[in-house]
Amino acid sequence: MSLFDVYPLYDVTPVKAKDVYVYDDQGLEYLDLYGGHAVISIGHSHPEYVKALSDQLQNIGFYSNAVQNPLQNELAEKLEQVSKCKEYQLFLCSSGAEANENALKLASFHNQKHRVLAFKNSFHGRTSAAVAATDNQKIISPLNAQQQVNFVELGDLETVESILKQDETCAVILETIQGVGGLDEACLGFHKGLELLCEKYNTCLIADEVQSGFGRSGDFFAFQKYGIQPDIISMAKGMGNGFPVGGILIHPKIKASFGLLGTTFGGNHLACQAALSVLKVIQNETLMSNATEMSAYFKAKAKSVSGLKAFKGRGLMLGLEFDVPVSGLRKNLLFNQRMFTGSSKNPNLIRILPPLTIQKSHLDRFFEALQVELNHLNIN
Ligand code: PLP
Repeated sequence: MSLFDVYPLYDVTPVKAKDVYVYDDQGLEYLDLYGGHAVISIGHSHPEYVKALSDQLQNIGFYSNAVQNPLQNELAEKLEQVSKCKEYQLFLCSSGAEANENALKLASFHNQKHRVLAFKNSFHGRTSAAVAATDNQKIISPLNAQQQVNFVELGDLETVESILKQDETCAVILETIQGVGGLDEACLGFHKGLELLCEKYNTCLIADEVQSGFGRSGDFFAFQKYGIQPDIISMAKGMGNGFPVGGILIHPKIKASFGLLGTTFGGNHLACQAALSVLKVIQNETLMSNATEMSAYFKAKAKSVSGLKAFKGRGLMLGLEFDVPVSGLRKNLLFNQRMFTGSSKNPNLIRILPPLTIQKSHLDRFFEALQVELNHLNIN
């Protein structure tokens, strides 16, 4: 049987990984500045994470949500402690798209409205109900054509209000820092204004923290920089450090009832152990402070990169924008320098999404390698 061919793949086969390094089947070592789409938060195969998952597997890996699983309560408590999101309720699922799908469904149940407002260039997952990528406003899933989504320019509160006024929009969904779209972020005034508008028009504000959450921005959630309080917060990626786990945090004003949401795999024992050990390591190794510190170091080093047009992002969700497409540069970084980097919808942007354990010496190596390849390609 062949694989359904939907991904353009680099010819690298990782077989082993440790912290910020990945090793391929030829024994070659790669510096991982991408973390498999921002998934690796505490470093590949962190010993505490490996132990937590292995020990759990010895006992029980999975049983359904029909019975008590105290690990879910332990996870909820730890999450409240580390995220400082007080009194939210936790619903667990298995991916970012599923988290957003549940968030939108919940919003619609809550206020009985059916339209969704999202922002241009946003990406919220590939499912029929979750708002898919806006690719020049073309919606990727044909099923989404049936869905009532308004795409608004990021930062345009006036248009947001004109839409919310119509009293049909159940939710506004926002990535505080746009990931796949290219790292754009609106200002404090926009975030405060959006929160007020959602409140005024009885619309749920959903913060999609699938990529920016779990410490990547230097705060636990990227929206926390603006002091707002979303109604629903979706998370995944870094939450499980590679184990598929996602979830939503739900404001107490939204009430639970039996059957409202459901899942077979969400919050299984292994998933809980993965997320718990991620939280413990983030806390014990002060990885959010490390993200902030490494981000400042990266930004300072970026100043001397030749041909750089713009520096984007914050925390360890970073980007370097050039005047020319960077696909050749990224390929050279991978095959000549053995470093994984990320792309985005902006062809001129290299994205850097390393494990939160990254150190200055790794970033020094990256900037040296980058300059070599920029010189090779005459980008200056
Ligand atoms: N939301 C954001 C902001 C994302 O970046 C992604 C994935 O890239 C998703 C949702 C979808 O997550 P998943 O691929 O786990 O379904």
